[in-house]
Amino acid sequence: MGELIQPQKTAEILQKYKFHFQKKFGQNFLIDSHVMNKIIAAASVSKDEFVLEIGPGIGTMTQFLCEFAGFVTAVEIDHNLIPILQDTLSMYSNVEVMNEDILKIDIRKLADEKNNGKPIKVVANLPYYITTPIIMGLFESHVPLKSVTVMVQKEVADRMKAEPGTKNYGALSLAVQYYAKPEIAAIVPPNCFMPRPSVGSAVICLKCHEEPPVHVKDEKLLFDLIRASFNQRRKTLVNGLNNFSKIALKKEQIQICIEKMGLSASVRGETLSLEQFANLADLLYEYGH
Ligand code: SAM
Repeated sequence: MGELIQPQKTAEILQKYKFHFQKKFGQNFLIDSHVMNKIIAAASVSKDEFVLEIGPGIGTMTQFLCEFAGFVTAVEIDHNLIPILQDTLSMYSNVEVMNEDILKIDIRKLADEKNNGKPIKVVANLPYYITTPIIMGLFESHVPLKSVTVMVQKEVADRMKAEPGTKNYGALSLAVQYYAKPEIAAIVPPNCFMPRPSVGSAVICLKCHEEPPVHVKDEKLLFDLIRASFNQRRKTLVNGLNNFSKIALKKEQIQICIEKMGLSASVRGETLSLEQFANLADLLYEYGH
C-alpha cells in the first residue's frame, strides 16, 4: 500500500496506461508522502466511517483511505483514469469508484444510501477550478457531514480561515465559518505534485458544526446579505446594501438597522463578524416584514 506516492511509481503507472494529464480537470497528482500523512492524520478516518473522495486521480490517496476507513466512494470525472483505478485499487473490497462529475451527483442521496444518512467525511485533493462550488455545494445542500479535509489553493485556504477586518476576509470566510471550523493542516509547495501547479497549496480541515454558531430567522437572507455586502467592497455597508434587491428597504431604514446595532453609519461590511451579520439579517427581516 502507498507506493504510488513515490514519484517514480506514479510515473510508471502513467506510462503503463499512456495517460495524458488534462489541464481542464485540474489534474495535479500528489507525490509527497509527508503531505499525504498530514492529510490522513487531519482527516483521522476510522473503520466505522464512510469517506467520500472527490477526484481520486490514479488512486494514491484512495489506497490510504481504504486502509483506514470502513468504506470509500471515489468520484472521478475522467474516464481515462477508471482502468487505472481498477488496477491500483484491485486489492481493496471496501471501495467503489464512480465515473461521474461531482457537481452533478446528489451527494445527500449518496450519504443516505451508503451511510444511512449518518454524517460522512469528505477527503480530497480537489480540482482547483471548482473548489468553491464543491465546498459550498456540500454545505448548502445540507449533506450530513463530520468534516471536509481538502487540498486547496493556499489563497483559498487563507480566505476560508480569515477573520473580520483582514484583507482575505469575505463572503467565503463567512459562509465556511457558518458551517464549520477551519484549521490549516499543511502548507504544500508546488513540487509536491506531478505536474507542478502554478500556485501554492494548503490542506484545510473543516470540522463541521453540529449547530450553526449563530441562529437567524432566515438563513437565505443572511447569505444574500453577506454576498451583497462584499459585492462592492470599497463602499460603506449602507451604500452596498442600498441596492440590495432581496429586501425592499430605503437607505434610511438600512441605516437605522445598522445604528441599532451600535455601529457607525460609515461602517464597511468587511469589519463585521458572523454574529453581527446575523443580527443585521434579523433586523432587516423584522423591518422588511
Ligand atoms: N486525488 C489525486 C491525487 O491526490 O493525486 C488527484 C487529485 S487532482 C488535483 C484532481 C482530480 O479531480 C483529478 O483526478 C481530476 O480528474 C478530478 N476531477 C476534476 N473535475 C472533477 C469533477 N467535476 N468531478 C469529479 N472529479 C473531478
